[in-house]
Amino acid sequence: MAEDIKIIIPAEKRVAALERASELKENIDDYLEARGTIETGFSLEDKYQKNKELIMELLDAREEEWQDWHWQVENRISDEEKLSKIINLSDEEKNEISRVGSRYRWSVSPYYLSLMDRDDPECPIRKQSVPSILECTDDFGYDDPMEEEFNSPARGITRRYPDRLIINVTNQCAMYCRHCQRRRNIGEKDVPTSREVLEEALEYVRNNKELRDILLTGGDAFMLSNEEIDWILTELDKIPHVEIKRLGTRTLVTMPMRVDDGLCKILEKHSPVYVNSHFNHPKEVTRPVQEACLKLTRAGVPLGNQAVLLKDINNDPHVMKKLNQELLKVLIKPYYLFHAKRVKGTSHFRTPVEDGIEIMEKLRGYTSGIAIPTYIINAPKGYGKTPMLPEYLVSISSDNLTIRNWEKKIVDYFNPHF
Ligand code: SF4
Repeated sequence: MAEDIKIIIPAEKRVAALERASELKENIDDYLEARGTIETGFSLEDKYQKNKELIMELLDAREEEWQDWHWQVENRISDEEKLSKIINLSDEEKNEISRVGSRYRWSVSPYYLSLMDRDDPECPIRKQSVPSILECTDDFGYDDPMEEEFNSPARGITRRYPDRLIINVTNQCAMYCRHCQRRRNIGEKDVPTSREVLEEALEYVRNNKELRDILLTGGDAFMLSNEEIDWILTELDKIPHVEIKRLGTRTLVTMPMRVDDGLCKILEKHSPVYVNSHFNHPKEVTRPVQEACLKLTRAGVPLGNQAVLLKDINNDPHVMKKLNQELLKVLIKPYYLFHAKRVKGTSHFRTPVEDGIEIMEKLRGYTSGIAIPTYIINAPKGYGKTPMLPEYLVSISSDNLTIRNWEKKIVDYFNPHF
């Protein structure tokens, strides 16, 4: 048997370490207090189950139907009378939803509806999915704040970077999020991009050898049939310079039953495929989400999250920290935190940039590095993602840096120029 290795730590070092540990513990007290008040998909499991039963009764659905993503799409709720049978709405609220609905499309999957608090208008699930009259009283913003149309060198394509681009494969989503930056594309009908346009987009990729990373999004790439996803990925795999494929989807959040066995087999066959989702609140991270993520990761698909900073939904350092920690528990790496864009009808979701900087300040050092996304402002004119950070570099000279750490301690650091 191996002998125990005894490491003797001098008493004064142990005392210093204990003092430091106690200082570190104080740094997390406020979060520990707040954490107990933040609801998550796991803490609300019983409530979600009751909502699910109510919705299934209303829609006369069986469990197999609930678990079928086609059924979820066909049974999306998009009229206020039906909605009011699940959540409590006043007549005024129903009128407002109808008024907004005549201007901006809305639709909620039965699954996402089951995550909603039935009585609380401030519920983050409700705010992201049920129209608010504020959408109609706000004309401050643009239809296309990123001016994507100026970055479309071929039909179906958005290109803002040297070695990668987006193919917009559909305008369809499982739900039409109230803060969506692409609401101009949603229209009144679900329209998958035609084969003709997809062929043109693929031809553009074939003809530009610097393109090594292709993102399929829309809309929501997982709204395509398995056969269509297989076809596009097969075509991309035939292009020698395409190294990786990525798919953007919010179905993990709004309809996790979309991740069926057939889809996982296809994604595994076309590895390397990455999937990026869009969770904004810990209430969205549920048991069905965990099961879907496990299936995807077993198929060799790495998962990332692109959250959007949204006022009164997640512009709080504790909520954002909890969201990112919950995501890691279901195998999703927080990737980006986007500053909300100036999209018409969504001003009520926008926050000052300082909110995002403060969140980043309260993440770095306070939680695991893998729980920290990059906070991004998308520069106007399609000039691309620009990271926003608290300032850690105080000054720099030829032989010295003055830096400040996550606790705001200032230290010098030798700057070698050998
Ligand atoms: S899923 Fe994405 S693209 Fe679709 S409505 Fe929501 S935010 Fe917009």
